Order: sequence, then C-alpha cells, then structure tokens
Amino acid sequence: MTTTLGNQALLPTYARLGVTFVEGDGSWLIDDTGRRYLDLFAGIAVVGLGHRHPAPLAAAHAQLDRLWHVSNLYSTEPMQELSARLSERFGGARAFFCNSGAESIEAALKWARKATGRSEVVALDGSFHGRTFGALSVTGQPGKRAAFGPMVPGAIFATPDTLTDHVGPHTAAILLEPVQGEGGVHPLPAAVLKQARELADEHGAMLILDEVQTGVGRTGSFFAWQQLGVRPDAVTLAKGLANGLPIGALLVANEAPTAFEPGDHASTFGGNPVACAAACAVVDTIDDELLAHVRELSARLSTGLARYGDVRGMGLLLAVELDRPAWPVVEAALEHGLVIGSAGEKTLRLTPPLTMTTEELTVGLHILGEVLA
Ligand code: PLP
Repeated sequence: MTTTLGNQALLPTYARLGVTFVEGDGSWLIDDTGRRYLDLFAGIAVVGLGHRHPAPLAAAHAQLDRLWHVSNLYSTEPMQELSARLSERFGGARAFFCNSGAESIEAALKWARKATGRSEVVALDGSFHGRTFGALSVTGQPGKRAAFGPMVPGAIFATPDTLTDHVGPHTAAILLEPVQGEGGVHPLPAAVLKQARELADEHGAMLILDEVQTGVGRTGSFFAWQQLGVRPDAVTLAKGLANGLPIGALLVANEAPTAFEPGDHASTFGGNPVACAAACAVVDTIDDELLAHVRELSARLSTGLARYGDVRGMGLLLAVELDRPAWPVVEAALEHGLVIGSAGEKTLRLTPPLTMTTEELTVGLHILGEVLA
C-alpha cells in the first residue's frame, strides 16, 4: 500500500492514507497494485455519478478536442449552456462561475455586501464554508481559524436557537448549510431555515445557502432547499457539479439584487469550457429517476447503518455515530477494500456515488459489518 514516489515533496496539509489510486470505474477505485476498492466516499461527495461516468466523460472529451480556454471577456457555449440549465433547475437565477467551493463562498460574500451595503454575515457554529480567508472567516469552527488570524471582519456566529438575536439592520447575509457536512453531518431543521428566511426578509438581508456539499442531487433533490420548502436569494455549488473536474458556482435568484457590475469580481479559469461541458452532462443526467434512486439508496443505507449507532443526514450524505473513534474504522475499512470517511471523532461519513447499485451498497454494508464486528 505504499507508493514508490512517496509524498515527501508535498506540504503536509493532509493526513493521507497509504494508498495511491490510479483508476476509477463507476463505484470502484483501483490502486497502483491493481487492488479494487468499493467507494462509499466519492471524493467527499464529488464524484456523484461515479468514476468515469460516460456522460460527463464524453462531454469533457469532446470539449477538450474543441476549446480549452478563452478569457472571460468572451462567451463560450458550455458556460452559456450550464448557466441556462442551472437557472432552469433553480427556477430563475444568474450564475457566476469559479473553480471551487471556497471561491463560490468568496463570490457570495462579496455579492451580499455589495447588494446590501452592509458587512455582517451571520453563520452557524459548527459550519464549514472553506479555507480561503473570507470563507474561513465565516466558518464556525474556531480550531480551523486559530492559527491564521486576523480574520475578515463581520462574521457573527449563532446557533439555530439564537439566530433571531444576531440578525438585524447590519446583517448583509445569513449563510447556512442545509446539512452541515464537514461539521459532522447535521441537518438544518426546516423550521430554522424558515425562520432564517423570515429574518432575512424582515431585515433586508440576503439568505445564502451553501449547497457546495448538498447540491447537485446529493440529498435526493437537485438542491436540498427544494425539500425544505424555502427559496434562498443565492446558492453556492461546487463538489459534484462537474463530477470531479474543478468548478464552483454562485447562483443569484432572479428576484434578488444583481449587485455585481463588470469589474466587480472575476476568475481567470471560472467557467472553463471543459468543466462546464462536463457539468452540463452531469445536470442532464440528474433526472427524476436518479433522484428517486438516491432516496431509495438513502433509506437502505440508513437502515444498514442503524445497527451501529444513530444515523443522521439527508439523501446520500449520511453519518453514523459510533461507540468508538471513527478514524481507525476508516483505516480498517480501507484494509478491507472499502473507502469511507469520517466527520468528527466518532462519526463515520458516507457519501457514495448517487449511481451506486443496490447490490454494490449491499456489498459495502457487508464489508462495513466485518470491519465493525
Ligand atoms: N462549503 C461546504 C459546505 C463544503 O462542504 C466545502 C468543502 O468541503 C466548502 C464550502 C469548500 O469547498 P472547496 O474545498 O471546494 O473549497
């Protein structure tokens, strides 16, 4: 399980496990010794359609053969097509494209400040919005910020119970994850989201949902907010949008202020034609049938996990609270040929491809049973 190249030439920002993957195939990963692993992690909710899914693969290949890049001073067809598709899914929105989740949050923060002329952003304790300074500043996990101060001013942290106390005339935006992913897979109660919508309306603030992890079908609907009954002013997307090619997006509802004018914000690679072509194919593949499959698989996975502890989450963003530390279980699972993740000391996180078959899921649960026996 060791690589001949090693990781000595990399900055040690990750505690990497000792496997080097060289190929992906649907719900499976193959390492440099040829061993196959069942992937119930999908690159942390990124490879939603499974590895090398034919639709984004063909779209990216075709685009690679046509055009890789032009400046954002010009239009490209994939970017126009993707913005139209996302607008349709959202029910009317305009997009700004970037390359990652953190960048989509940066765009959202700048947009909300400009749209309202205010600087405060109310986020939740335990939230995760990314590692760049703006995104880190609104991330409600002090440990992740501690070594890097000073932060961008204006971030205010609340709990679901104290939102009312913190939103007021200085609030530019309320920023929420429909399910806190990195923070331990904690779904936001629909009533809290409804209250956030009311508070934003009352005080003229923007309601931004960070759907970087929950979006693009992960929870069983294209956007998680569609199941929660609250329409946000803006949404951020990334992770699963291009099935593994780098992309991020800020979507601003048509009825919300546009705010941005030419020159306000930019990204050299944002809207990259290859990533956008792949993303169009991803959006087209996430149809009602696949979303129904996600919900069915979610029910099966929840039932399968329930024997090990309390299960939380939505769709195929699920966690189980174990009676023991999670990380050794992640390592042992890998030894058994199963890729899973953790999200907290005793929390296992499972984010399998949305396209995983029920038979593959059964195999995964069987291996997990052996690991936890
Ligand atoms: N927002 C949420 C909800 C996330 O889960 C993540 C990453 O896990 C991010 C933002 C940051 O995304 P990225 O790692 O692509 O910058």
